[in-house]
Amino acid sequence: LVRIRGLRKSFGSQPVLDGVDLDIRRGEVTVLLGPSGSGKSTLLRSINHLERPDAGFVEVGGELVGYRYQGGRLRELGQRAITRQRARVGMVFQQFNLFPHLTVLDNLVEAPVAVHGRPRSGAEAKARELLDRVGLGGREGAFPRQLSGGQQQRVAIARALAMEPQLLLFDEPTSALDPELVGEVLAVMKDLAESGMTMLVVTHEIGFAREVADTVVFLDGGRIVESGSPAEVLTRPRHERSRAFLAAVL
Ligand code: ATP
Ligand code: MG
Repeated sequence: LVRIRGLRKSFGSQPVLDGVDLDIRRGEVTVLLGPSGSGKSTLLRSINHLERPDAGFVEVGGELVGYRYQGGRLRELGQRAITRQRARVGMVFQQFNLFPHLTVLDNLVEAPVAVHGRPRSGAEAKARELLDRVGLGGREGAFPRQLSGGQQQRVAIARALAMEPQLLLFDEPTSALDPELVGEVLAVMKDLAESGMTMLVVTHEIGFAREVADTVVFLDGGRIVESGSPAEVLTRPRHERSRAFLAAVL
C-alpha cells in the first residue's frame, strides 16, 4: 500500500531523512522506533506531503504522493489533488488536535461533510457507530475539554476513521497521556489492527510493538538501521544503536 524509496529531507544543512526505503503492505501494522530527532515525525509527515522531499518519493496505493508527471517532468499537485490524497491517510497526533469549539459528534462529522460532501445525516450515523467502537457511545454532545486525555485521543482516532482512510498514521499517540490512560488508547489501536487496518505507528510502547506489530522498523539519524519482525528487532537487535535504544526504553 505504501512504497517509499530513497527519501531524503534536510532542514537547512541538517539531513533529517537520509535515504529511507520502506514498504507497508495492506493490512499490516508497522511500528517505527527511534531516538528523539531521528526523523520519525518527518517520515510520517512526508507520507501526507506535509513535508516535501528533497529526493526520493512516496507512493500510496500505487499513486505518487504530492506530484505528477507532466511532459516528462515532475510537477507538484494542486491543493485540491493534495487534499484528495490526504483524505486517504488518517493521522493521529500526540496532542489530540480536536476542534475545541465543536462537540465530539461535530468533530467526527466535519471532514466527511466538508471534504467528501457526505450528507450530514449519514455522516452522523457513521460517527455514532465509530464512537461506539472506541467506547464513547453516549458522549456525542460533550466538548473535548470535558473529556479525559484518553477519551480525547479515542475521539481523535474515531475522527480519523470517519474519513474511511486506507491507512492510519499515529505519531506517539499515547505520549501525552497519564499512564493510567495509555491502556485504553492502545486497546482501541489493537482492535483496529485486528480489524485489518493498515497502520504505521510511532510509539515507545514496546509491549504494543511486540504484541501487535507485523514489522518493527528502527530509525536512527534519518536512516532505517533495522527492520524485521518484532521478535527479530526487539529481541535480537543487530545494531549497536538499536540495542542501546531498546535497553533504555525497556
Ligand atoms: P521526537 O522523538 O523528538 O519526536 P522525531 O524522530 O520525530 O523526534 P523529527 O521531528 O522528525 O524527529 O525531527 C528530526 C530533526 O529535524 C530534529 O532535529 C528537528 O529539530 C528537525 N526538524 C523537524 N522539523 C523541522 C522544521 N520544520 N524545521 C527545522 N528543523 C526541523
Ligand atoms: Mg516526533
